Amino acid sequence: MLRKLSGYMTRLFDRSSSDALPVPHIHSREHHPISRKQFSRAALDVLYGLHKAGFDAYLVGGCLRDILTGSQPKDFDVVTNARPEEVQKLFRRCRIIGRRFKIVHVYFGRDVIEVATFRALGNEEHAQKQVSDEGMILRDNVYGSIEEDALRRDFTVNALYYNIANFALYDFVDSLRDIEARQLRLIGDPATRYREDPVRMIRAARFAAKLDFDLEPATEKPIHELGTTLYSVPPARLFDEVLKLFLSGHARASLTRVQQLGLMEVLFPDTRRALHDSPPKDVWQRLFEQACDNTDRRIAQDKPVTPAFLYGVFLWPDVQARRAKHMEHGMPPAPAMNKAAGQALQEQLAVTSIPKRFSLVMREIWDLQPRLEQIQPRRAERLLDHPRFRAAYDFLLLREQAGEIKPGAGDWWTRLQEAGHDERQKLLSQAPASGKRKPRRRRKRKPSGDGNHG
Ligand code: ATP
Ligand code: MG
Repeated sequence: MLRKLSGYMTRLFDRSSSDALPVPHIHSREHHPISRKQFSRAALDVLYGLHKAGFDAYLVGGCLRDILTGSQPKDFDVVTNARPEEVQKLFRRCRIIGRRFKIVHVYFGRDVIEVATFRALGNEEHAQKQVSDEGMILRDNVYGSIEEDALRRDFTVNALYYNIANFALYDFVDSLRDIEARQLRLIGDPATRYREDPVRMIRAARFAAKLDFDLEPATEKPIHELGTTLYSVPPARLFDEVLKLFLSGHARASLTRVQQLGLMEVLFPDTRRALHDSPPKDVWQRLFEQACDNTDRRIAQDKPVTPAFLYGVFLWPDVQARRAKHMEHGMPPAPAMNKAAGQALQEQLAVTSIPKRFSLVMREIWDLQPRLEQIQPRRAERLLDHPRFRAAYDFLLLREQAGEIKPGAGDWWTRLQEAGHDERQKLLSQAPASGKRKPRRRRKRKPSGDGNHG
């Protein structure tokens, strides 16, 4: 009996010392600015549905952060103490997803609300029930309390909870203080949290860019040393994260942050090498910045954007460096481009996957560059009908603006597209001679007909 009791005491002690759980600051309705009017109908329906069935139901994370920082939430996430199976019984159109940690997607028209059960702390890979000698469940590693759920989240600004039962805001980790101070602070020991999930480093850059927040020094410091731990992240997940960085309307700010944190060279290692090898570094930097500006502008205007374009830009210095080398070794321009493109993509795939539907477009954009630079009047009109002409033309304009190639061809193509029949004939008869601003290092002059492989 005594032995049993002392074992129990030890467990109690262990638990309170290692998992000290936070006590929330509870801000009642009159003391915070968040109102139900700011939530979607679907989010409210889910919250009330859970509440009426007797469960706890909270909005959590990004949506509250966005409302408090004055932007429109992209989606609403709900957490509850109801198990996924219990949630499923409450709503007509919903589906359980996820294998180990199940969450429920509840559908309202085109809206989806993600409902997760409070999640416990602990090693996610080894989550399992810990059972005592007597078979009693001491701790279910998968589901936990709201306090544990809060500690599991990444940044304090992503860990606020809004309780539908009393409309109060629950702040476990000084989230409001950090939002006020406009800073991103990782919950817990930063290095440990980055090692647990290196993607948090990319998320740090993304939220800093999106919110225009600073990284609190202790949150920033380990990133400079741990960048390469990103290589343990599955390439498909990294690809998705990179897309969120650059295709969410704040690409330019993301580029700045990612570069400040030394992560650009982790994400695009061969580009880094190319930048090192070829002298006009500022040209490539301008190219990247302008491509990001372009992307942001298109998103602001509700125009479509494709990852192929930005990825095409980020890998371009590497493609050009490889292509130049192949040509130095006597390979004709078209096969040199083809080989360089294949190699650059191959290397990149080890870091971030690039789905085929995008890499094919990237190759087409690259392939078209020499054909747009070295205007071939007889083929020009046909090129206008190429499904990738527009993207390749935009790419060419960027290269001219950045100073990688001298301007001329871009303007000619602009006029060709706008011209009527007579004007077209005139343009076709006076295509400008084009070429690079200066020959690349010790490379022989290009033979005429460069890139002509149509
Ligand atoms: P966004 O506006 O980009 O959707 P978000 O904060 O909603 O931002 P999500 O990726 O949708 O980000 O994640 C929802 C919530 O889940 C986050 O707010 C955070 O609390 C938590 N979370 C997401 N990813 C992680 C992670 N890698 N580690 C810890 N917590 C995470
Ligand atoms: Mg979200």
